[in-house]
Amino acid sequence: MVKYVIITGGVLSSVGKGTIAASTGLLLKSMNYSVTLIKIDPYLNVDAGTMNPYMHGEVYVTEDGGETDLDLGHYERFVDITMSKYNNITAGKVYFEVIRKERAGEYLGQTVQIIPHVTNQIKDMIRDAQKHSGAEIVIIEIGGTVGDIEGLPFLEATRELALEEGNVAFIHVALIEHLKATGELKTKPLQHSVQELRRIGIQPHIIVARSEIPLDEETKRKVALYTNLRPEHVFSSYDVDLVYEVPLILKLQGYDKALTQKLGIEYRSPDTSKWEDFVRRVKNAGRTVRIALVGKYTKLKDSYLSIKEAIIHASAHLGLKTEISWIEAENLETDENALNVLSSYNGIIVLPGFGARGAEGKIKAIKLARENNLSFLGICFGLQLSVVEFARNVVGLKNANSTEIDPNTLHPVVTILDDQKSVKEVGGTMRLGAQKIILKPGTLAYRLYGTDVVYERHRHRYEVNPKYVDLLQKHGMVISGVSDKGLVEFIEFPDHKFFLATQAHPEFKSRPLKPSPVFIGFLKAAAGL
Ligand code: GLN
Repeated sequence: MVKYVIITGGVLSSVGKGTIAASTGLLLKSMNYSVTLIKIDPYLNVDAGTMNPYMHGEVYVTEDGGETDLDLGHYERFVDITMSKYNNITAGKVYFEVIRKERAGEYLGQTVQIIPHVTNQIKDMIRDAQKHSGAEIVIIEIGGTVGDIEGLPFLEATRELALEEGNVAFIHVALIEHLKATGELKTKPLQHSVQELRRIGIQPHIIVARSEIPLDEETKRKVALYTNLRPEHVFSSYDVDLVYEVPLILKLQGYDKALTQKLGIEYRSPDTSKWEDFVRRVKNAGRTVRIALVGKYTKLKDSYLSIKEAIIHASAHLGLKTEISWIEAENLETDENALNVLSSYNGIIVLPGFGARGAEGKIKAIKLARENNLSFLGICFGLQLSVVEFARNVVGLKNANSTEIDPNTLHPVVTILDDQKSVKEVGGTMRLGAQKIILKPGTLAYRLYGTDVVYERHRHRYEVNPKYVDLLQKHGMVISGVSDKGLVEFIEFPDHKFFLATQAHPEFKSRPLKPSPVFIGFLKAAAGL
């Protein structure tokens, strides 16, 4: 029988439910249970693809091309499983399907209502995701906070799911504020959020209290009393240096045991030794390397979460302590000093991005890296702008550009190809998901991956214009990877210390224990290893 773990949040959003869900997945997987995770997002967007990363953080791309919430990235990194677009259920997807069915006459004349039609649809989607994965245990994280209007149908659906399936564990993650002036841990907002849950018929089985400092026994007892639980079912997720420590601190408190007990499954001591090793390597890394990340949404670091994590994974592998600085591309356009500062880093990454703002700044950063033999990695837009830079400054095509930036450029070295031109919709219409890349033997890209065929995930609309490829190669650009249609996937310059750019997003497949070869290669070169 399939078991379900439902994770709700209280008091504040961004309280770290995603990390708790991912940690739960890791612990259960380490007990040899097969798990899958589902993120429920109560917003009306059909997927995260149309949302501004500045407001909502990174759009995480799944192997099958889903544009999903960044929590799916946590799940994949912690649990090392491959998720699908079915693993992200949004209110948009649910309502879209309910309305489609209504129009198709599938409700046979009934009045279509939130209960039962929307809630049934939610349960169907949860069960579909389970079937698709074949997992024994499904962990469902409900986005937002208990009490949000949009979240209600989802909470109701999980309440019904518990009734229908049995063996469902509800875990409530809520903040406990630490008042510095008095040193007190204030539990009242948490008590209220649990009351709100109970009002709609859900009694949580486990509380994970998020707080700056570990909960003392007295506070645990108080939380237990007010939430109708035993103190041993209240856990403390206090601030740690590294998110990857969270499953370990929960395990130390016996969270894994409580979980198996609530689910009615056998407890097997989880083997987390490799994970502990990884955490130790990150924390004890010696040698420092300084990397500049040049992009546009740098104010919200979550916009590039997977890249940040990929750097942590590769650094741990190499024993490096990587310090990253977020550089706002636009500042490089006007501030000469900012460009000078950039040259003092051990390596530069030009980040993915969309639109004209900051593009010229990124091009300046690329020029600096190319001309000064600075380790360089260009990701997606970073590859496209590397081609623009090379076309302008080496090939001599002064006005070369991407048509995304200048639709009327004389030299559209990066452009939309005909099959993308006819697409009018915005959502879900890019080149998305894992795609085959054929690497050229003898190149840097080939050496890094150690094989000639790789699959990396994509999320982009523009391509290096095939009409310019010969010219670019004639001037020394090496195309080291192509798609099966011959589109440019990797470029490099053999006489450069390390200059690699890719149309793909290798960051999405990086895992703590399986770092991306691209990030390893880049950091190794940056550190001079
Ligand atoms: N804006 C570019 C495109 O759509 C690059 C996208 C990206 O960096 N993810 O092709």
